Amino acid sequence: MTYDTIILGAGAAGMMCAAHCGVRVLVIDHAKAAGEKIRISGGGRCNFTNTYAGPGNFLSQNPHFCKSALARYTQWDFIDLVGRHGIAWHEKTLGQLFCDGSSKQIIQMLLDEMGRAGAELWVRTEVKDLRKTDSGFILDVEREGQRHGLSCTNLVLATGGKSIPKMGATGMAYDIARQFGLGITETRAALVPLTFSDGRFKELAGVSLPARLSNDRTSFDEALLFTHRGLSGPSVLQLSSYWREGETVRVNLIPDLPLFDLLRDQRQSGGRKALTTELARHLPGRLVEYLSHHIPMPGNLADQSDAALSDLIAALSNWQLTPSGTEGYRTAEVTLGGIDTDSLSSKTMEARDVPGLYAIGEAVDVTGWLGGYNFQWAWSSGHAAGAAIATC
Ligand code: FAD
Repeated sequence: MTYDTIILGAGAAGMMCAAHCGVRVLVIDHAKAAGEKIRISGGGRCNFTNTYAGPGNFLSQNPHFCKSALARYTQWDFIDLVGRHGIAWHEKTLGQLFCDGSSKQIIQMLLDEMGRAGAELWVRTEVKDLRKTDSGFILDVEREGQRHGLSCTNLVLATGGKSIPKMGATGMAYDIARQFGLGITETRAALVPLTFSDGRFKELAGVSLPARLSNDRTSFDEALLFTHRGLSGPSVLQLSSYWREGETVRVNLIPDLPLFDLLRDQRQSGGRKALTTELARHLPGRLVEYLSHHIPMPGNLADQSDAALSDLIAALSNWQLTPSGTEGYRTAEVTLGGIDTDSLSSKTMEARDVPGLYAIGEAVDVTGWLGGYNFQWAWSSGHAAGAAIATC
């Protein structure tokens, strides 16, 4: 069977590409259904984009690479598409847009768009062999126990990254890219909880509060969640993409709380209770109890001098922790790194030295922050490749 374009991976990027890349298109996926990560995303409501999405929200060895695709298919284009399909949505916080109903609506929308474009979809299909010819590519695939020989002019790598192998993530895009001589930058788990091998936060598991997480490169103000294994929550997931083994992270537990003034006021109006009790009016009680074993908090609030309160505030706003690792690909939302952008055209996503070979989505070394940015990259890069293929 001969196709103009074969897309490997029926995820966010692959389906978007299939909707735009013209005729005689086949999308292949080894999963039982298309868009499995979309289905589980955003707690089942899919945080499908972010109103603030721009190049500054992405990590890549070449921070300029994502600019062209993001500018040519923006968050507003996707919001428009969602609107045309009658999908109701809402903004949660920080520009993050979610479906009012279910993430399955986004999958159905993409399937409808693919159907409208005439693209075929083969799920439960494994790629057994892949070769380049003078005019394109030849694939040997297995579908429902039957082998099929396929050929195509354009081959799009859209099989995503390595995160959550249980959901079918594989490194196939990297293997194929390597096979054709494309570079791969170091890959690592990102948007992932940080762990502490001594289990020091076990007793705090479930405690959550607004915090500022920072290192020497960046800083995020969002919720922090203590877990049995360490730290999670949006601020931690965000910082994890910028964290490396051995590095210390700084935790500000009172980023927006004028705690010094609050405690001084409480002291003036009595303050005869234990400092820990007074502090627990502003911070989770279990956290205060834990901290009291690590930061000096003796006596009653009434006994504290301004200098002692200042020392306490300094300790609470600059708690330094050195995680032992991350939860890895098992729970990571994305993979940092991937197919080297130097190997690709930023306008078309086509490999510079392999005409007809394209790479899009998470497989490429472009990784978004938490908050709908990764899907926006999938839509934008999928559209860029699709539009380029349609016009070639
Ligand atoms: P994927 O969506 O991962 O698609 C890749 C496809 O390729 C899959 O269908 C897979 O089955 C297929 N495939 C893989 N290997 C093979 C193979 N060897 N043969 C055949 N097929 C193969 N991002 C957001 O922006 N907002 C969110 O709300 C959000 N929530 C998330 C929640 C979770 C739990 C996770 C894990 C991720 C979340 N993300 C979110 C990240 C987002 O899902 C990904 O960045 C995005 O799906 C990447 O799109 P993609 O098309 O490149 O890859």
